[in-house]
Amino acid sequence: MTDISCRGAQPALEAAKVLDVAGIAHVCVGWLAVALLAFDANLGEVELVVRDKDFAAARASLVQGGFRLCEDAQCRELCDRRPPPLESQEQLFSLNECQDFFAPNASHLIASAHFHLGAQYSQCTVLSLYKKSEILRWIPVLEDDPGKDDPSLIWLSNDAPRLPPARPDGPCGPWRHAQAVRLLSPAAFCELLLFLYCRDCSHVGLRQFSCRAMFERCAGHQMRLDRRLRPDFQEVWESMVDFFAHKIGPRDPFPALHALRMRLIAAEEILYEEMPQVDEDAIRY
Ligand SMILES: [Zn+2]
Repeated sequence: MTDISCRGAQPALEAAKVLDVAGIAHVCVGWLAVALLAFDANLGEVELVVRDKDFAAARASLVQGGFRLCEDAQCRELCDRRPPPLESQEQLFSLNECQDFFAPNASHLIASAHFHLGAQYSQCTVLSLYKKSEILRWIPVLEDDPGKDDPSLIWLSNDAPRLPPARPDGPCGPWRHAQAVRLLSPAAFCELLLFLYCRDCSHVGLRQFSCRAMFERCAGHQMRLDRRLRPDFQEVWESMVDFFAHKIGPRDPFPALHALRMRLIAAEEILYEEMPQVDEDAIRY
């Protein structure tokens, strides 16, 4: 148990411990990374990534560690935009259900496995377990020997000197706990979100709103980068900070983002075969 107030920290730390004991390297992405680096949206959701070849062992270890694997083929977690969990069979949605539908994490990337947390962890929802190829292909971590990953790309959830301190309406602060979850450095996480948006832009199921909601919070709360981004990403990031944090008018970041997307596709940094089915009428989203 932990006294950390960040929702999702406790199951994340316990899952990390299970994976560490099994010798499986992980990286935490998604809303908990946003909470540690920029803004805690209090969503109680855990998203972990492991190497593809470790995936089956990671899933089995988490089951053995007491996490409840979902095998329901009709589960809402298998929708790009999760419908609210219905509290009753009434046709009208309750207020809670409506809020859920418009929550920043309503759109998400469907994981290869997920575990429901609600019965075990107060105010937590789901732990998603991804393969690296699904979500983290561009970032050189979780490589052949994760022990040799570039240490500047990996931060730890208890790294008090480097993580921003807790702030109301800001980050949750470091999790001051001996056990730690591995996450990406702010610059690597920022680059990941931009890659994901460029890959998933205009998806028919609107899943790009997942990373878009995250980078809006990161830019809006002026996430402090540990280094400059690659030049083409840095330019887009600066226009996003201007737009979301400073509300500066003419630098709407989306045209620049779409131009970046076209360049990444042309350079085959984003591959045609990994791009999702797109809605041709929705190229602005
Ligand atoms: Zn489920």
